Amino acid sequence: MKVLITGGAGFIGSHLAERHLAMGDQVAILDNLSTGSIKNIQHLEGNPNFSCTVGDILDLAVMHALVADCDLIYHLAAAVGVDFIIENPLLSLTTNIRGTEILLELATEKKKRVVLASTSEIYGKRNGHVPFKEDADRILGSTTVIRWTYSTSKAVDELLALAYWHEKRLPCVIVRPFNVIGPRQTGHYGMVVPRFIKQAMLGHPITVYGDGEQRRCLTYVDDALDGLIALALSDKAVGEIFNIGSNFEISIKDLAHKIKKLTRSSSEIKFISYEQAWPKGVYEDLVYRAPDLEKIRNYIDYCPRVDLDEALTRIIAHSER
Ligand code: UDP
Repeated sequence: MKVLITGGAGFIGSHLAERHLAMGDQVAILDNLSTGSIKNIQHLEGNPNFSCTVGDILDLAVMHALVADCDLIYHLAAAVGVDFIIENPLLSLTTNIRGTEILLELATEKKKRVVLASTSEIYGKRNGHVPFKEDADRILGSTTVIRWTYSTSKAVDELLALAYWHEKRLPCVIVRPFNVIGPRQTGHYGMVVPRFIKQAMLGHPITVYGDGEQRRCLTYVDDALDGLIALALSDKAVGEIFNIGSNFEISIKDLAHKIKKLTRSSSEIKFISYEQAWPKGVYEDLVYRAPDLEKIRNYIDYCPRVDLDEALTRIIAHSER
C-alpha cells in the first residue's frame, strides 16, 4: 500500500511513517517544517520505501501529485499547539481550513481514503458531561479568545469531511486524539509534558499554570497509533468520528511532581497565574478533559497499554540521549 502522511515530519506523523514502513508499505510524507522537523525523519531517509517532500498543503500542484500517487492519506498537517495558535491565528485558520479543503477536494476527485486528524479540543470546556462522547455538544468561549481558533478550525474540518462523505462519498474517518505524548514531541508550541521534562532536566522551574488542579488523560503515541491505523484500515469506520485517548488521568500539579521525581530533578515547582503566563484575553484553560472510549472499542480492538509512568520513563530516556 502507498501511504501519504501530511505533516509527516511532526511528532505523531514521524512515528506513523515508521509504523507503516515496518508494515511493508510505501510512505510519502509532506511537511512544511513549520512545527515539524527533519530531525524526526532523518533516520528514514535512504529507505527505498520512504520519500519526503518539503512543501505546503496549500500548494495545489504538490498536493495534486502526492494525492494521485497514494492509496491512503493521513491528514495530520495543521497548525498545532496552544502557543503556536495564539501567536499565529491567521496562519492557523488558513492552514487548517483551506489546507484541509484542498486535500478533501483532491481526495474526492481521486477517490482516496482519508483519515482526518481532528482534536479533543473540539469539545471545548467542561460541560458537565465528561468523559466526552463523540456526539457531545461543544462548549467554546468567545471568538475574542484566540485559543478557540484551533477548536473552531478543526470543527470546520470535521464538517467539511462529513459533507464530502455524505454528498460525494469520500471515504473518510475522523479521529480526535486526547493529549498524545511521546518521544520527539516538542514543548516549543505549548505541550505540557515535553516542556516539564525539559525544565526538570535543566533544573529550571517547572511552570504550572493556575492552581494545577486541571486534569488531562495522557495517551502514549504507540497506543494512539494502534487506534489510528486500525481505524484507517476498517471499512466500518468510514464516515464516523472517534475519540482516541486513554484513561491514564492526572492533574497538572501531580504531573509536575511525577516528572520532577522521575528525572531526579531539583527544580522548583512554580505556580504561575494565567494573567502572568498570557496576555489578557487570549487564553482560557480547560479544567478537565477525558475521552469516552466506548465507541472506538466497539469498532476495533483498542486498549491503551502504556501507562503514565512507563510513558514518561520512555520519553525521559529518549530526551537523555
Ligand atoms: N500547562 C502548564 N504549564 C505549561 C504548559 C501547559 O501548566 O508550561 C498546562 C495547561 O495550562 C493545560 C495543561 O498543562 O492545563 C495541558 O496543556 P497543553 O498545552 O499540553 O494541552 P491542552 O490539553 O491544554 O490542549
